[in-house]
Amino acid sequence: MTTTDPVAVEVDGLRMRYGADDVLRGVTFQVRRGEIVALLGPNGAGKTTTIEVLEGFRARSAGRVRVLDADPAHGDERWRSRLGVVLQSWRDHGKWRVRELLAHLGSYYAPYATPASRRPWDTDSLVRAVGLTEHADKKIRTLSGGQRRRLDVAIGLVGGPELLFLDEPTAGLDPQARLEFHRLVERLTGDHRMTILLTTHDLAEAEKLADRILVLSGGRIVADGTAAELSERMAGGDEVRWTLHGRRFTTSTRESTAFVRELFGEHGAA
Ligand code: ADP
Repeated sequence: MTTTDPVAVEVDGLRMRYGADDVLRGVTFQVRRGEIVALLGPNGAGKTTTIEVLEGFRARSAGRVRVLDADPAHGDERWRSRLGVVLQSWRDHGKWRVRELLAHLGSYYAPYATPASRRPWDTDSLVRAVGLTEHADKKIRTLSGGQRRRLDVAIGLVGGPELLFLDEPTAGLDPQARLEFHRLVERLTGDHRMTILLTTHDLAEAEKLADRILVLSGGRIVADGTAAELSERMAGGDEVRWTLHGRRFTTSTRESTAFVRELFGEHGAA
C-alpha cells in the first residue's frame, strides 16, 4: 500500500482483553481519507481502548490494524508525526503559556517536516485555527474548560496531522463551548481536509459532527452508517436485528426507541 491509499484506518477482528475482561471482541471497520467518523457507544464500551490501540499506545490481543499504511504496534516516529491524538487527560501543562507550549511542541515535529509532507502549522496560525488568539499569552491553568479543550485540540494538531483521533472531545463542556468546538471540527475537515475519528457517548453529537457513525457495543461494531441510515434502521425500516447488552432488538419502532434510550440516554430518544 502507498500513502495514496484511500483508506486511513483499517481494523479487522480487533480483540482486546484486560485480564479476564474481554473488552473488544472482534471490532471491524474502516475510515476512509477525508471522512469524519464517530465511534459511538456507552461508557465502558471500549472506545478509548480502541483509540489507544490505533495510536500505538496499547498492544492489542488479536486482529489486524492498519493506520496510515502501518501497523500501529510498529509505528515509528515519522509515522507518529502524521497522527494527531487528543485524549481526555492532557492536563499537566498549567504553568505554561498557550503560545509557549505550542511552540515547544512544534519544535518536536520539525525534524519530520519534508517537502512532501503537509507543512506543519506555525504557532500563530495554529492558535488562530483553534480560536485562542486572545488567550495565547495566558497561563494554561487560567483558561476556561472550553478554552482548555481547544488547546487540547491545538496540541493534537501541532504536527499538521493527516489523521486526528479525538477521544470524547466535548466531555465536560457547557453548551456554548460545545457549539464552538463543533464549529472548529467543521473548519478542520472543511478547510484542512483532515480525516477524523472521534469517540462520543452522545448520539446527538455524533449526528452533528460525523459523516458516518460506528456503534460500539458488547465489544463489537453493531451498526455502521450515516445518521439517516441508522435512524431508518432503528425505525424498523429493514431487517436489521440488534443484540445489545445481551438483549435482542428486532425491528419494531417501540423496541428501537427503547434501545436508543437505553444505549444513549435522552439525546437519542426518538
Ligand atoms: P469507553 O472509552 O468506551 O468508556 P474504555 O475503553 O475506557 O471505554 O474501557 C472499556 C473497559 O475496559 C471498561 O470496562 C474499563 O474498565 C476497562 N479498562 C480500560 N482500561 C483498562 C486498563 N488499563 N486495565 C483494565 N481494564 C481497563
